[in-house]
Amino acid sequence: MNNLKGKDLTSIEGLDAADARAIFDTAKLMEPFAFRQKLTRVLEGAVLANLFFEPSTRTRISFGTAFNRLGGEVRDTSGTETTSITKGESLYDTARVVGGYADVITVRHPKTGAAKEVADAVDVPVINGGDGVGEHPTQALLDVYTIEARLGKPNGKTIAIVGDLKFARVIHSFARLLSKMYQGINFKFIAPNGLQMPENVRESIRTSGSQHTMTDHDSINAISDADVIYITRTQEERFADPAEYERYKGKLRIDKKTLDTLGKPGVMLLHPMPRDSREGSNELDHDLDGDPRLAMFNQTDNGIPVRMAIFALVLDVADQIEKTARPVNWHVPKKP
Ligand code: ASP
Repeated sequence: MNNLKGKDLTSIEGLDAADARAIFDTAKLMEPFAFRQKLTRVLEGAVLANLFFEPSTRTRISFGTAFNRLGGEVRDTSGTETTSITKGESLYDTARVVGGYADVITVRHPKTGAAKEVADAVDVPVINGGDGVGEHPTQALLDVYTIEARLGKPNGKTIAIVGDLKFARVIHSFARLLSKMYQGINFKFIAPNGLQMPENVRESIRTSGSQHTMTDHDSINAISDADVIYITRTQEERFADPAEYERYKGKLRIDKKTLDTLGKPGVMLLHPMPRDSREGSNELDHDLDGDPRLAMFNQTDNGIPVRMAIFALVLDVADQIEKTARPVNWHVPKKP
């Protein structure tokens, strides 16, 4: 029984642990198709409207690629300049129109709650690709999927979340999803003073149904007992006053020396990307590229099977994937 058929995915708040588990189980089945060992055209004829009103590289391309790998077609918008939003069109009107064209909509928008607004306006499933400082549920699903692939279920683990915890929507979804799916997580929130985890996320963790601990820190030294470290960039675009952003940038950083000195052996290091590699920021140094502790490119690779799973479940074709499988007949250089 597929509980996600026809459903929206606008927040982790609205997703229960069993549905997240169904996405993970389906993502596992998608891996050979995502990584070009097998081919399916199960969504042939279906159309995805991929509406991105904010900058994106990974999320937009991976939503489109995931849909293509299932055999569907993708129509994209990128930015606002080329859309009727610049002529004053409301999000409701845009959504209502596109809902008549497409079988599923993915949306990224600067306004918190925008994906829900789109979902309320249309009958087709809507997937949130990031709504302001709200949530980024598909990022959290691929992050946690990546943790499980390496460490198994992280029950009882210490998870340090580092950086701009106030504005980073990926963090809000990540912490909520961990608290829903597992027991006894020891959350360490490491943020500069002023960018701490918002109260609404703490409340979701408290009411998740499992017992977790949460402690706050402002120094990178607090990563020392973590099994998993998740670091994110300071969200420059969310600060009303650029001077305020300047005060925070580069405050918390991890490079090889920091990880060698403070990190537990075998610690897993995640980052949602983009990392801000500008000199004054550089929260995650390039000297960790290729380091086995860094799982960032496993996260990006896993974006495809996880997003394929979401599309296959909401459009209810997951059980047809295996029986429609065909061999891939082009050269695939390397399997991730
Ligand atoms: N790409 C992620 C997002 O859109 C993370 C980030 O931008 O820092 O939220």
